[in-house]
Amino acid sequence: MNGIIYGDNNFSLPSHMNFGKYFLDKICTHNNAEALIDAATKKKITFDEMARQITSTVSCLKKLGVKQSDVVAICSENRIEFLITAIAIFYSGAILVCVNNGYSEDEVVHVLHISRPKYMFMSLSTYNKYYKLLKNLNLIEKFIIFDTISMNSEVINFNDMPQGSLEINTYKPTEENGGTALILYSSGTTGLAKAAKISHRSLIIAVQQPTLSKRNVVMLTITPWSSTMGIVILLQELFYGKTIAFLPRFDEKLYLHAIQTYKVCILTVAPPTIVTLCKSTIVKDFDISSVEIIYSGGAPLNSTVIKELKTRFPHIKRVLQGYGMTETTGALTTEEENMSREGSVGKIVYGAIIKIVDYETRKILGPGQFGEVCVKGPILFDGYIGKDSKDDFDEDGFYKTGDIAYYDEDGFFYIVDRIKELIKYKAWQVPPSELEGLLMKLPSVKDVGVVGIPDSLAGELPTAFIVKQPNMDVKETDIIKYINTKVSPWKRLRGGVIFVKEIPKTGSGKILRRKLRDMIPKLPASKL
Ligand code: AMP
Repeated sequence: MNGIIYGDNNFSLPSHMNFGKYFLDKICTHNNAEALIDAATKKKITFDEMARQITSTVSCLKKLGVKQSDVVAICSENRIEFLITAIAIFYSGAILVCVNNGYSEDEVVHVLHISRPKYMFMSLSTYNKYYKLLKNLNLIEKFIIFDTISMNSEVINFNDMPQGSLEINTYKPTEENGGTALILYSSGTTGLAKAAKISHRSLIIAVQQPTLSKRNVVMLTITPWSSTMGIVILLQELFYGKTIAFLPRFDEKLYLHAIQTYKVCILTVAPPTIVTLCKSTIVKDFDISSVEIIYSGGAPLNSTVIKELKTRFPHIKRVLQGYGMTETTGALTTEEENMSREGSVGKIVYGAIIKIVDYETRKILGPGQFGEVCVKGPILFDGYIGKDSKDDFDEDGFYKTGDIAYYDEDGFFYIVDRIKELIKYKAWQVPPSELEGLLMKLPSVKDVGVVGIPDSLAGELPTAFIVKQPNMDVKETDIIKYINTKVSPWKRLRGGVIFVKEIPKTGSGKILRRKLRDMIPKLPASKL
């Protein structure tokens, strides 16, 4: 072995290379089985009905004027129409961009200016939140609303979309990998949110990765489908015919109630949900004995949390982990029901090639040696819109993930550290440079560096080190309030503000984040 690890190429690629068609053909084979259950509204849909609605929505998209390669946005909480529209967009050859429904106004404007959608599908709540702003942007030509609102003639109700021709199969791939199917936002290893291009081929391979469990059981998810982990796991498990119960957002009582009602066997979560379960005071009021598997991803999962969980809920047989990122179309390594090892994030997935390299010398390392994870292969994204991604890849075309890991003799991977700029609050991305840019706009701030400080529930809490302008005063509360108005809730400075004399930097002016983290004093509990 030359130190490069190859995932199986045990996947098939259809000649049409359209993910929407590939997915639709497959789910038609699951017939009358239940596909999705909205655990908040109790609405359900079978695979047959879902397939029928996807076909009808493709024809509506065509009638609306959506063409191959047009960008179509969805900005909504998780709901059945979200998935139907997403598959219809893929099928029609247009490009889906998922806009997070928690974004601040500035963030929405930033991400839409990069992807420039012509059409946008919204729910009533995102309509109420963003419509005026979006209308004034003059970017989006047509708004379609999932919930029926009769008063506004400027928008189209989802259920009133005019039906077009039934001849919907008109997609002609222009690139070998089918071209871009999906745009997901990620800050990558540095900087602000960028629009990562995911091809039809990457999605076709992603859904063929082995299922978490071959048994026909119910899975519950609360991860937003606008995030990579949310949408990819959803598509993959539906592809295999699983029934997915979901909630639009986390609510402990509703969550436990859903587990009990639908006899959920698998929970897919980010680590904070596991911590919440361990500490729950109301769990005793619910029967959650159906849960056998918890699948965690998106951020590191502490081994003491796993032990606590297993002690409190002995019926949980497996806590599995996956590791991946937006740029690898979700999981890059994963565990399965019958293939797991404690502390590990599993083995390499289909269509991936991984090498672990020494961060300084770039020498390829062998088993048991820590280094940066570098990845190549058809699961990889196609770069970011409008950005030269050259620096993100090494000279052999491997994407440099900014994560430190090692693998054992049997090919199980273990994540050790993260060296990229990214902070993860409850598995959400918080790019420090975005907060630094905003803070530098304050006249009272001379210099700033933002880092994540460890937290047992959230993983990390964004924390700002600030150098004040001479003779100017500013209070921590003012800074926190200012940031709260500018960013999505998960980017708030929950770790607080620490005033310092100087931000440690390299000779070339790069912030030494590790040094900043070392400067964190023992924070009073009130700050956490
Ligand atoms: P995202 O693109 O938002 O999915 O973020 C991807 C990043 O989250 C990875 O590059 C890792 O830094 C981190 N991450 C994802 N899964 C795990 C995991 N299982 N353990 C540790 N870190 C993880």
